[in-house]
Amino acid sequence: MTATVVSLVNQKGGVGKTTTAVSLAVALGRKGQRVLLVDLDPQANATSALGVDGKDVAGTYDAILDGIPMADCVVAVEAECISVVPSSAELSGAEVELVPVMARERRLTAALDQVRDSYDWILIDCPPSLGLLTINALTASDAVIIPVQCEYMALEGLSRLMETLDLVKRNLNPRLHVLGVILTMFDARTRLAQQVVDEVRGHFPQTFATIIPRSVRLSEAPSHGKSIFLYDQGGRSATAYDAVASELLERAGVAA
Ligand code: ADP
Ligand code: MG
Repeated sequence: MTATVVSLVNQKGGVGKTTTAVSLAVALGRKGQRVLLVDLDPQANATSALGVDGKDVAGTYDAILDGIPMADCVVAVEAECISVVPSSAELSGAEVELVPVMARERRLTAALDQVRDSYDWILIDCPPSLGLLTINALTASDAVIIPVQCEYMALEGLSRLMETLDLVKRNLNPRLHVLGVILTMFDARTRLAQQVVDEVRGHFPQTFATIIPRSVRLSEAPSHGKSIFLYDQGGRSATAYDAVASELLERAGVAA
């Protein structure tokens, strides 16, 4: 068995990509799945959210641009039941440094191929752009999950994202597909949030049934270097992400 590679992608910032990548990865890990989380954002929010310091260790940059073996870039986060390939600020140079590189869209694919057999799931936390790093993620992925914030203008940018997915599918990676849309930061008190839910579900039948509530605990967890499963175990956000993981396993036909 080889890993299913899934990118969390949306070029809009602040929609819940990193929160979902970390929480879903840990939820899957806690269900006994072997999970590798790849931090592909130079802001390294997923890395720090897991209490890992990407500065002094090999990470995504080294694997993609320096040809360091991927296995040497993996950090086990045992308390969270997952492993992570950390990011650091030097990854911000990758967008430009990749331009003259041979087969520049496939650097991450080649790096992940070295470790694919060791995991059930590889989740990639993408940066908020559709540049070469994200193209690398899409080229390496079997599927994408699109986090959408339940706020005004939620669908903004999604048609451009779908065009990009289509381009990658046609030119670089025919197996790429949308596995699901995940609705985040839902505030039950606003009528707008419910309208967004209905609208997104109308556009994307693959939307996960589980909706992630807006929760202060979820926004606090990263500053403690812990996932929501360690920071607020049994809380409603952890419960929601656990339910998304169950939906994902069901869609993948995995009994867990
Ligand atoms: P992205 O990776 O798309 O930029 P993040 O996951 O970093 O988005 O989320 C943006 C901000 O919103 C972060 O400060 C995060 O802690 C917060 N956040 C994410 N999801 C929720 C939620 N469900 N409830 C409250 N705050 C959230
Ligand atoms: Mg992020």
